[in-house]
Amino acid sequence: MSRSSVESLASLSNRVIGIVGLGLIGGCLAIDLKRLGYAVYGVSRRSETVTAALDQGMVTDAGCDLALMAQADIVFVCTPMALIVPTVQALAAYLPQSAIVTDVGSVKGEIVSAATAMWPNFVGGHPMAGKAESGLGAAEIGLFHERPYVITPIGTTKPHAVDAVAEIATQLGSRLYKSTPTAHDRAVAAISHLPVMVSSCLLHACLSESDADVKTLAQHLASSGFCDTSRVGGGNPELGTMMAQFNRSALLQSLQQYRHQLDSVIELIEAEQWNALEQKLSIAQQERPKYL
Ligand code: NAP
Repeated sequence: MSRSSVESLASLSNRVIGIVGLGLIGGCLAIDLKRLGYAVYGVSRRSETVTAALDQGMVTDAGCDLALMAQADIVFVCTPMALIVPTVQALAAYLPQSAIVTDVGSVKGEIVSAATAMWPNFVGGHPMAGKAESGLGAAEIGLFHERPYVITPIGTTKPHAVDAVAEIATQLGSRLYKSTPTAHDRAVAAISHLPVMVSSCLLHACLSESDADVKTLAQHLASSGFCDTSRVGGGNPELGTMMAQFNRSALLQSLQQYRHQLDSVIELIEAEQWNALEQKLSIAQQERPKYL
């Protein structure tokens, strides 16, 4: 490593990191950033969470009062999505002007424009890693390692703020991507939010079996394939609802495309067009490894 990159890493790790919302994502960030040598200050809503984060050594200091963030150079807002913009607004009363604020919300469009209007040193971000469980208790080491971390600057985003967040994402071992908020939201609608809705519909379809004996038998026969395809549909309902609420238009577009595909499969089966169906399935088989 060159002398200048060592110096730049050293100057970054002298920085104080603030984390608001010590849940799954905030907790995972706190654990990894503290292990990287940063001083990490956490703020959460409930005092039990704050005590747990302190007791487990996840943070340097923590509390329930946003005033604690006055010491932070870079603040990660890790609250539920609906609270990100109000939290940025509330933070503005405490932060020095030089502080960089970023968020981890799963949808970027409205959040990035509203938060930037409140804090010019705001950079939208989305570490794309998660688990079925939520809350600080589910936090673990290395969740972001080798996972995508998308940064979504807009025209007015400060380049030094983008660089600082990018540097931290790289230190977490994430694969860094940059995109516009709109492109991010369309992409995650297709590969993350649509699968949640489809997988949940799959579970509902199985649950709606009217013959109790068939339903029980299907339940006993369900194996690894069903586990794979139903996993994301059985995740945190609050998060799924927020995905739909915050990414409404991109998700609706993806659902329409999916419905179109579903209709075409129904038509092929109704018309007994087995060759055409096999061709469709073959394309999916060939394309899946390339897509992934
Ligand atoms: P989570 O586990 O429920 O954590 C959110 C935490 O925020 C809660 O534990 C709560 O802590 C705290 N909180 C709630 N209101 C607060 C407030 N007013 N001030 C300070 N803290 C508050 O949720 P998560 O899964 O980490 O998601 C957090 C964010 O990450 C969301 O914006 C989501 O879109 C994004 N994200 C999630 C995933 C995922 O797969 N889960 C992946 C990438 C990004 P208390 O215990 O103190 O109540």
